[in-house]
Amino acid sequence: MESQVNPPIRSKLLLNGQLVEGQGPVEKIHDPSTGLMLAEVREASLDQVTEAVKAAGVAFKTWSKTTPAHRSGLLLKLADRIEARAEELSLLESLNCGKPYKSMLTEEMPAIIDVIRFLAGAARCLPGLAAGEYVPNHTSMIRRDPLGVVGTIAPWNFPLLIAAWKLVAPLAVGNTVVMKPSEQTPLTALAVAEILADLLPPGVVNILAGRGDSVGAALVSHPGVRMVSLTGDITTGQKVLQAAVKTLKRTSLELGGKAPVIVMDDADLESVVSTVRTAGYSNAGQDCCASCRIYAHAKIYDKLVAALEGAVKTIKIGPPRDASTELGPLISERQRERVASFVERAQQQKHMEILTGGARVAGPGFYFEPTLIVGAQHTDEIARREVFGPVVSVTSFDDPDEVVALANDSDYGLAASVWTNDAKLGMRIAASMQYGTVWVNQHFTLLSEMPHGGLKMSGYGKDMSLYSLEDYTAIRHVMVRCA
Ligand code: NAD
Repeated sequence: MESQVNPPIRSKLLLNGQLVEGQGPVEKIHDPSTGLMLAEVREASLDQVTEAVKAAGVAFKTWSKTTPAHRSGLLLKLADRIEARAEELSLLESLNCGKPYKSMLTEEMPAIIDVIRFLAGAARCLPGLAAGEYVPNHTSMIRRDPLGVVGTIAPWNFPLLIAAWKLVAPLAVGNTVVMKPSEQTPLTALAVAEILADLLPPGVVNILAGRGDSVGAALVSHPGVRMVSLTGDITTGQKVLQAAVKTLKRTSLELGGKAPVIVMDDADLESVVSTVRTAGYSNAGQDCCASCRIYAHAKIYDKLVAALEGAVKTIKIGPPRDASTELGPLISERQRERVASFVERAQQQKHMEILTGGARVAGPGFYFEPTLIVGAQHTDEIARREVFGPVVSVTSFDDPDEVVALANDSDYGLAASVWTNDAKLGMRIAASMQYGTVWVNQHFTLLSEMPHGGLKMSGYGKDMSLYSLEDYTAIRHVMVRCA
């Protein structure tokens, strides 16, 4: 599993079928586990953004007329080629993000390959209303047609996984794409650009490296882009919406989360603890679905907290390439300082206690200890704002009816879980939660077949599943007079 050889690093953009150097400023890419520079990538110039949108517009004329089977065949080949290079791409992602290589290769990479295969196949059987004569002698039918050029913008926490969601779904239903990875983590997208350049006709996919306020903003405001699909921060979603207003672009916004975990007094605590140990801390907690906000029934609070403390203390911090590493570094010094400042502010409140962790790890890299904060109140910042780091807070509750209201009292609405052995109670709570995904006696599992997306300020629009394919199409009515 351990590999010492660095994978090759590509820094060229994909523009109209060609791999080209960016013409904009140079962006330095770092290894978060050492803080050392990995690569320099020149971002796209504004002229290159325009060129990419134009190329995608031209390619749309033919790509949108291809059959679903044709597109599916090419996308299945994309999955095969990514699979053939799974180790190299996993290593690259691990290097660029600080993710443990083992989990990248054995968990994230299979999910990437699976979602590409799922979307490629699903695009061949979009469901819809039956055609029929709703007016005598007139046949009405529903069409689902691609929109045109889709601009997709990805974040740094799951660069290749989210790129796969946002690249393959629009392509599978006949759109063309201009994609911008995060300026901090462009390396896997630029490696896949090489595969795409060989596989797809020119212009169908264009991949432009660059920052949000230059390349991202230019893409979002370009009149030739019909839809923007973003995964990112709430403030970025707001900026995208403001820019989209001018040309009334369709938008799909997957923004942050602050997932509540409701633990009833009859829950299987062993299962809660082992799940939170993973779902609260994997990817160093930089996950919009992280199980970061626990509400524990007062009857089991002490027992749960003690067991969680024991479990969190065993999480193994280490270099991403070490097969035993469970917790790698945060993405940047800036992100580590942000996480540390949340913990410091919590520490200043007397009613809270940091049971384990709470500090930066000394030495190179942007490591932060896995942290468990207990005694949090529902109104505390630590229980309300997205930390995006390896930090979990625990809050006690007495009234099972009230806890659903507490969990729902949040700007966010992405994911949540409830833990109880009472199946009826679990169902009732799941139905009342204002979250895009609710797990009962589970937390974290996302599937290619099921939609992922939020409510409230977590945004709207779906990734994965048939619903994501629908998001990238326009529903149209065609009526034919038959007599
Ligand atoms: P970010 O919003 O800073 O950046 C996301 C992307 O948007 C980057 O590619 C960035 O360059 C681009 N961007 C920034 N400003 C822009 C602008 N004005 N116009 C166009 N593009 C712009 O987010 P991040 O820090 O990379 O990622 C972390 C955030 O993403 C967290 O808030 C997290 O919760 C969220 N996230 C959400 C989901 C989800 O599925 N809902 C999944 C992963 C991450």
